Amino acid sequence: MEEKSHKTNSGTPHIQENCKLFTDLMKQANLAYMELDKDLKVTVWNPASEKLFSCPAVEAYGSSLAQIVVPTDKVCDFNNVLCNMLANPPDSGAIIYTNFSQTGREIICSWYYSHILNKNGNITGLSVMAQDITEQVNAENRSKELSQIIDDFLGFAPIGIYQASDEGNFIMANPEMAWMLGYESPTALVMQMTDIASQMFATGESAEQFFFHLFEAEQVSAFRSKLKKKNGASFWSSSYAKRAYNREGRANGFYGFAMDISRSIRMEEELQTANAELVRIATLDGLTQIANRRKFDEYLATEWKRAVRDKNVISLILCDIDFFKPYNDNYGHQGGDETLRQVAKCIETNSRRPSDLAARYGGEEFVVVLPNTAEEGVFQVAENLRLAVKNLEIPHAHSKVHTCVTISVGVSTMIPTLTDSPKTLIEQADSALYQAKKLGRDRVVPYTEKTVEE
Ligand code: GH3
Ligand code: MG
Ligand code: MG
Repeated sequence: MEEKSHKTNSGTPHIQENCKLFTDLMKQANLAYMELDKDLKVTVWNPASEKLFSCPAVEAYGSSLAQIVVPTDKVCDFNNVLCNMLANPPDSGAIIYTNFSQTGREIICSWYYSHILNKNGNITGLSVMAQDITEQVNAENRSKELSQIIDDFLGFAPIGIYQASDEGNFIMANPEMAWMLGYESPTALVMQMTDIASQMFATGESAEQFFFHLFEAEQVSAFRSKLKKKNGASFWSSSYAKRAYNREGRANGFYGFAMDISRSIRMEEELQTANAELVRIATLDGLTQIANRRKFDEYLATEWKRAVRDKNVISLILCDIDFFKPYNDNYGHQGGDETLRQVAKCIETNSRRPSDLAARYGGEEFVVVLPNTAEEGVFQVAENLRLAVKNLEIPHAHSKVHTCVTISVGVSTMIPTLTDSPKTLIEQADSALYQAKKLGRDRVVPYTEKTVEE
């Protein structure tokens, strides 16, 4: 290395001392250092060079550098690089080149050089350093790949993805998030939405709930709320958000996902409406549009249990249209149907308490369940029903009791116990109805023990 003199006066003790120091340093350094003569042959090859290129110094000395550090097909190209080094003064930038060790390992090197000058200032060779940056380059490439993948994901994701600050503005958003909120691009969204609470949430209440969950529980899951578009229109969304933390572990904004669920909400609503309609249809009598027998059975069972539990009274009114067969025979089946509708409506509207349930029991018979209604009360209701039907004044020229349609009514009342059955209540009302028919029709008969005997 003594030949390498950057300046004149190399012979002074001071310079010699420096050269020795440099040589020692290069022996120990973990940086490949080499010197080349004008023919680009190796004259200095430090231990780090041996290690990096798997080439012992004895083999390296006198060999062309290119032949050591690149495969045969690249020798010419690398020699050109070295010639350029000889021809041009070193600038600040490093030359990156993909080299190979003698064992065939690919090494991405960052090459630095300077010219070796003789006393006259003429270039006699190169001093060169090679830094192995393979890992760094690979890490950079991997990181670029990862960012590309993340960008692709964000662009491709069919849900809104964002990162926001504690101050309530977006730091990052993907295209779907921008599109969902009616902004032309993620940049526009980030620039223009400066207060998520008031600009994104349709109501202050849902914004409050969202941030309450986020700050209390650190995260929000499947949070349903209406979000606002830039143009003011709103849509249903399901949001997920999580508190973000910086490297020091300090809470630092949040990130989240948002999905437009308007379509599924609409479908849910349609399904609910359809279900409600199904339930309604299933419990409604097709002809008269009042509750059907099935609804009556369910309702009586429920109210019966409640009455047993509360030791409360429950009553039943059973109505039957008088001489309906001759009515049908004379006014036709359709006329009969129409009368059934009118009578049904009349019985329903005159069963006034919200807990009263009027239903079609079958044929021309109707029933009313009256929870929490005692004998005197139920008799009065029954009597009202009878009069109300009569007052409809539906002509019936073939009735033997009146010129209009009338009903006979049986009434029963019980304070049921666990051993009783709702069947008994029905049977008693039926037997009272039978008595009403027997006693001349167009009347109300309450059930008593005597009713059966008669
Ligand atoms: P009573 O006074 O003893 O009750 O005599 P009634 O003729 O009313 O009794 P009956 O049981 O002999 O006849 C009932 C009639 O009700 C027979 C049937 O034609 C008629 N009916 C039952 N269901 C319907 C219906 O859905 N539509 C029509 N139009 N008529 C019906
Ligand atoms: Mg009948
Ligand atoms: Mg009848």
